[in-house]
Amino acid sequence: MNDFEYRGGELFCEDVRAKDLIEKYGTPLYVYSRKAISGGFDRLSDAFRKIDHLICFSVKSCSNLGVLRVLKEKGSGFDIVSGGELFRIEEINADMSKVVFAGVGKTNDEIEYALEQNILMFNVESEQEAERINSVAGDLGVEAGIAIRINPDVDPKTHKYITTGKSENKFGVDIERGYDLYKKVAGLKNLAVKGIQMHIGSQITEIEPYVTAVGKIARLAERIKKDIIPLSYMDIGGGMGIVYKDEKPFDVPAFAEAVIKEIKSLGMKLIIEPGRYISGNSGVLLTQVQYLKKSAEKNFVIVDAGMNDLIRPSLYGAYHRIEPVSKRDKSSVLCDVVGPVCESGDFIAKDREIGRVSQDDYLCVFSAGAYGAVMSSNYNSRPRAAEVLVDGNEDIMIRKREEYLDLTRLDNPNI
Ligand SMILES: *Cc1c(COP(=O)(O)O)cnc(C)c1O
Repeated sequence: MNDFEYRGGELFCEDVRAKDLIEKYGTPLYVYSRKAISGGFDRLSDAFRKIDHLICFSVKSCSNLGVLRVLKEKGSGFDIVSGGELFRIEEINADMSKVVFAGVGKTNDEIEYALEQNILMFNVESEQEAERINSVAGDLGVEAGIAIRINPDVDPKTHKYITTGKSENKFGVDIERGYDLYKKVAGLKNLAVKGIQMHIGSQITEIEPYVTAVGKIARLAERIKKDIIPLSYMDIGGGMGIVYKDEKPFDVPAFAEAVIKEIKSLGMKLIIEPGRYISGNSGVLLTQVQYLKKSAEKNFVIVDAGMNDLIRPSLYGAYHRIEPVSKRDKSSVLCDVVGPVCESGDFIAKDREIGRVSQDDYLCVFSAGAYGAVMSSNYNSRPRAAEVLVDGNEDIMIRKREEYLDLTRLDNPNI
């Protein structure tokens, strides 16, 4: 993670001092490293160089236009899950022939919008959805590219909220029903059946379950190709895990080799949909200590970033490394790092040993690039944080800090 490193006790993002960013933009502040984003993309692309492949960055993990532009310039495609995400990538003039659209609840309007944009394919999550896409495409007089999302019923051994490929999850179509559904959709005349897709969960650190699932899908694809219809795309989703604390790093080269072995003979183009792997460790959240408070049981470090800015700890009990932006000495304190929101669930860390800080000092919350800013809200009427992209020794504001007026702008003032 040397795109964020300490030099002489001061945190830097690439060649920019975090303290300078704070002076310029204030806190709470999301900071992304361009080099880290590109680096994640390159590691994946390099690992899969031996097979024809397309990387579709998962927009939902980090959807700021500045970040999406970095990926577009790398040649990335995009994995979207809503009309809003489609709008974002339209705003950056993304190549729509590299766009896949997932999600269990696509509306008529979203389908129409995506067909007008001529995306590569919809990753279809149910029989009714296939019928709806067929009918919307018919009305528009176009053909809709589709893959069916197959649920391989494999446990990726991650947090239950981020597991998506077990039969109890709402995503995809059971693998046993996959073959028959392909038979059916092959007969729908406004659909161009292009591929097969899976996505079994997020923050996966073990490659075995993931490869097992790919093998299951590959064998189904083989039968479908032989008996029903040719398929050109094998989309294996995202979910490659990152190191937040002491997780075993996801072994991308070994994973790529195993995946290639499973699917090479099929002659299909591989699609991967990484989100967190690219964005997670490419961003941090900087925050200022407001108060230190002691209770009978605890030391509280109260900061100006709350669950509305970063909800992962509250929502999943997620771990984020926290360190002072300026390290003065080696002393530390056991504390809860909490936000200003009026909820007991508003914390960034509990019972954590962190470097000692004083009132008004700054803390860095690491690994906040994925599912950070995108999950932020205005709860407690708190304006959303600013976002900055660092490139070498330059910093570019990629999202302005919201103002109070932004909070009430859409409320009807006439009542
Ligand atoms: C969320 C999601 C991804 C990305 O997941 P990561 O864990 O961030 O890699 C990819 N594909 C689909 C369909 C998703 O819903």
